[in-house]
Amino acid sequence: MNIILLGPPGAGKGTQANRLVEERGMVQLSTGDMLRAAVKAGTPVGLKAKAVMDRGELVSDEIVSELIDAELTAMDAGTGAIFDGYPRTRAQAERLDELLDKHGRKLDRVIELEVDEDALVDRITGRFTCANCGAGYHDRYNLPQVEGVCDRCGSTDFKRRPDDTEETVRTRMQEYRAKTAPILPYYEERGIVSRVDGMASIDEVADKIDALLS
Ligand code: ADP
Ligand code: ADP
Ligand code: ZN
Repeated sequence: MNIILLGPPGAGKGTQANRLVEERGMVQLSTGDMLRAAVKAGTPVGLKAKAVMDRGELVSDEIVSELIDAELTAMDAGTGAIFDGYPRTRAQAERLDELLDKHGRKLDRVIELEVDEDALVDRITGRFTCANCGAGYHDRYNLPQVEGVCDRCGSTDFKRRPDDTEETVRTRMQEYRAKTAPILPYYEERGIVSRVDGMASIDEVADKIDALLS
């Protein structure tokens, strides 16, 4: 099974992808995570992407599509892929079709997480992750069970993204509206888009997604 999680920054794509990885053994392909790893490692891609990401704008289609191609090449053919934060433009959507073809895969479903924009700033500015295992949390909506200790790995080290500021979120929302939302009709034509209310609780959203994939 290959699926796309689509939605603006803070919609809950990473949160739901993490859960699908744990419960279904699928692999999460997050171009955001891949780019942050490249920035941290100081690779040529990372050096190019950093300033663009700090501004909240989109990195070039070529860069992200190559990252996805490399991950698909490394993956077991039988393992399902969750595309999280990719594709983000029409050109990327077309490129993804070519890549899926090349790797003998087919797109089963595009799940759009529908959220109220006013809630996104709150979600993004309260977001933090475990520095050790990457588990995602929120200052108010999704705290670890024991304060300061990661539920998944026990680490006490957490981090926040430099681009998770109110100002950058506004730019990222604009990028989403202008470039990413317009790719929905591309998939709607094929009848594979499902909409889920992303304003419901994390568990409720998870249940809706499970129902769509069963
Ligand atoms: P995205 O990957 O779409 O940018 P995340 O999954 O990182 O979004 O979620 C953004 C923040 O909102 C995180 O701190 C996460 O814990 C929190 N969050 C995710 N889903 C929900 C939800 N349904 N209700 C409340 N908070 C949520
Ligand atoms: P979020 O889901 O919270 O918006 P991501 O982690 O998916 O954030 O992306 C962070 C940043 O990385 C984006 O603002 C953008 O600069 C860059 N990026 C990630 N994925 C893509 C993509 N598919 N195309 C272009 N830029 C991307
Ligand atoms: Zn952890």
